[in-house]
Amino acid sequence: MVDYEAEALKIIQSHPEGVLQSELWKLLNIDSRKCSRVVKKLLDAGVIDRLEFKKDGIKTFLLKRKKKGVEPSLILAGGELVPCIGCDRECQVEECDILVDWMYQLAIEELKE
Ligand code: SF4
Repeated sequence: MVDYEAEALKIIQSHPEGVLQSELWKLLNIDSRKCSRVVKKLLDAGVIDRLEFKKDGIKTFLLKRKKKGVEPSLILAGGELVPCIGCDRECQVEECDILVDWMYQLAIEELKE
């Protein structure tokens, strides 16, 4: 059995600019009524946004993956933001001393937990 919600989400995720609902049902190879139920489930789950859209004068919806906020604990170590944010150095990740220091701090915090 096909998990249409998962398939629909995969399609929507792979199109950062969004997917028209009037195209989605064709891509899923289902009828538009079933597609509406799939979209409703994704909306209820809070994983997509639906924006009104007109194509050739016909109203449809543009479906986009909902952007998640960044989990602050993932970019903080020792109260310091990951140094890459706002960094203006010429980046050489493998040799970056400030990133290594930040990661070291992160590792220490994880050991304490
Ligand atoms: S890895 Fe180092 S040099 Fe590169 S962006 Fe991050 S902090 Fe800046």
